[in-house]
Amino acid sequence: MSARYDIIVAGLGPGGAAAAMTLARAGARVLALDGSGGREKPCGGCLSLRGVLAVESLSPCPWLRDCPVATLWLSGPGLPAGRYPTSEAGVYFVERPRLDRWLAQEARQSGVAVLPAKLRAIEADGHGWRARTSAGDFEADWLIGADGAHSLVARGLGLGGGGWLYVGLVEERPMPPRLAPLLGGTALLELGGAPGGYGWAFGRGQTLNLGMAGRRELLGRMGGLRRCYGRFLRRLGLGEPGRLRGAVIPCPDGGVRRYYRGRAAVVGDAAGLADPFLGEGVAQAVVSGHMAARAIVAGDLGRYQRALAETLLRDHHNARRLSRLIYGWPRLALRAAAARPGAIELGWRILRGQTRPGDLWKVVPRRLVGLRHGLDHAAASYYSLASS
Ligand SMILES: Cc1cc2nc3c(=O)[nH]c(=O)nc-3n(C[C@H](O)[C@H](O)[C@H](O)COP(=O)(O)OP(=O)(O)OC[C@H]3O[C@@H](n4cnc5c(N)ncnc54)[C@H](O)[C@@H]3O)c2cc1C
Repeated sequence: MSARYDIIVAGLGPGGAAAAMTLARAGARVLALDGSGGREKPCGGCLSLRGVLAVESLSPCPWLRDCPVATLWLSGPGLPAGRYPTSEAGVYFVERPRLDRWLAQEARQSGVAVLPAKLRAIEADGHGWRARTSAGDFEADWLIGADGAHSLVARGLGLGGGGWLYVGLVEERPMPPRLAPLLGGTALLELGGAPGGYGWAFGRGQTLNLGMAGRRELLGRMGGLRRCYGRFLRRLGLGEPGRLRGAVIPCPDGGVRRYYRGRAAVVGDAAGLADPFLGEGVAQAVVSGHMAARAIVAGDLGRYQRALAETLLRDHHNARRLSRLIYGWPRLALRAAAARPGAIELGWRILRGQTRPGDLWKVVPRRLVGLRHGLDHAAASYYSLASS
């Protein structure tokens, strides 16, 4: 006979950890399947303040704000560059493997049973689920698929789906001493050199995180992402690519999707919920994991679908518009940033969770004709999980 739990969470990245922790703290018996096998997730390690707030509302993390980003440096091949300092950080650099380990540890301390095992198949079992795993079979009333971009749960149940796909490449190197003064605490984003995306250089202390993300459907246009990335490095004087790691970043494309079926739901990358403008996905995984867990506690996963529609999915609709505009017209975007640094401040506000992307379409036209804007200051408070 297989062991029975209230909920099985497949995958223990940020989405799975947030869901498992929330459910265990509500008194549920939770089994989390950690199928990572110790592999580290490829990541830029860039966490917006809204993401920091989401993680902190799960559990205060003492080191999460250690590396604030003080300057945004926007550039483009042959295009005007600009450096934009901020006095109030909107983004933090974090060591991603450390964050994942810490979240998994917090989940264990909340009472989650963590099993290093891979989900191999799911079967409906009476009113619940049977999970066939590399460590045996387990049963539960509820199932959460937090098993990343190639989610077995999402495929098996026909859920989620990020039709707007970025492909991301990343590597980390020791910070070259000559670049430390320029890139320390700085997020360099290069527009126009990646197909429908951007290249980045993030100076996190003694480490330089370098990468590029491009829209999968556009990769053929510029000779492939690796080539674009190689050119980006040469423009920075950084030689040839090092040990690159890559993965897809699934974002919603605006199509009608289901995020739950019966007593099963998908969250984070498994649901395809990363932000289609920046490819940011940690905050969105935590928020969606928490929302799905709250809906299970209430016994109604329909609440999860509705909550997503009002929050992440609405914001992602506007993030797609921004993405088309800014990556499609990099020269215009860089010129606009230089001419009106207020636009950069609006970007920081979004990343701090103070403004929703949709507000841009209200604010920018009003500013252009000299009118004051009326921003909703509690705008994206759903990132502070108490309200979601
Ligand atoms: C190159 C790159 C750079 C990125 N940079 C950033 C960034 O700077 N900031 C940011 O916010 N986001 C970034 N992202 C996106 C972000 O990494 C993801 O959106 C985020 O990790 C999603 O979290 P998750 O918990 O949904 O999935 P994941 O973090 O992918 O976790 C899923 C977990 O499930 C496990 N798993 C998979 N299959 C199974 C199975 N069958 N059984 C059990 N377990 C399984 C996996 O091993 C993994 O541990 C980046 C992505 C890429 C590819």
